[in-house]
Amino acid sequence: ILVTLGLLFLGIALGLSYFMSKRAMIPIRNSFHRQREFVADASHELRTPLSILQSSLDVLEMEESKQMSGFSQNVLSNMKNEVRRMTHLVGDLLTLARSDSGVPVLRYETFDLIPPVEQLIRSAQTLAQAKNINLQFHAPSTLTVHGDHERIRQLLYILLDNAIKYTPNEGSVSLTLSAASREKQQALRIVVQDTGIGIPPEEQGRIFDRFYRVDKNRSRQMGGTGLGLSIAKWIAEAHHGTIQVSSIPEKGSTFTVMMPIVRQKA
Ligand code: ADP
Repeated sequence: ILVTLGLLFLGIALGLSYFMSKRAMIPIRNSFHRQREFVADASHELRTPLSILQSSLDVLEMEESKQMSGFSQNVLSNMKNEVRRMTHLVGDLLTLARSDSGVPVLRYETFDLIPPVEQLIRSAQTLAQAKNINLQFHAPSTLTVHGDHERIRQLLYILLDNAIKYTPNEGSVSLTLSAASREKQQALRIVVQDTGIGIPPEEQGRIFDRFYRVDKNRSRQMGGTGLGLSIAKWIAEAHHGTIQVSSIPEKGSTFTVMMPIVRQKA
């Protein structure tokens, strides 16, 4: 009788704890969901006033800057930089909040990746030239992929922008695109290499975390938000791919992305 009673109590206790844990999970899940919705809504709502601010500052700069004192011009330029930083941050937060929501946010299409990347290289060239950085691009003449055009462009931009940002003047940055066979599938391989400041081995596992920056001051000064690489990782993984880094401090870094999205031409 004692054994039967003991087993009965044990059964009831286990059942109760399972029931309680399920009940506790529901509010937690709901509050996560509400938090994500809040971040998505707030970032979306912040975009309009920010773009109004941005264009008002542009008008002010065009119309008034000639009559402004050096001090006021400085204030205006600081305001423009901060608005730009905040617009960037809000855009990044919105992307991540949407990616968290679990709703499929990728818009797949089949396209030749080379022309948009050539265009991207032209804008990156401006950033590179300002630092006398030698920017190289290697790729086949066409490369048909099936993926989200805008997101892939964003991923490439994040990696290139970081490579240029974290490479001192006179350094080199290269972007190489190729098709590589992986498990019977053709993968797109993206390699972004730089001769920059590098990342210490103990930090390499954390740079893909949200808001993580190796050197907060340096990154902030350069307009960084600490969200770029977490977005890049999300984009690679949303395309069923991977992103990896190998880096030696003071020598440089190499970021490699593999995504199974290459299509043979029909
Ligand atoms: P941030 O906006 O700060 O650049 P990211 O998420 O893009 O944020 O990168 C996270 C951190 O990883 C950066 O703050 C920087 O410390 C480091 N990092 C990223 N790319 C490079 C690179 N190419 N060379 C050296 N450090 C890098």
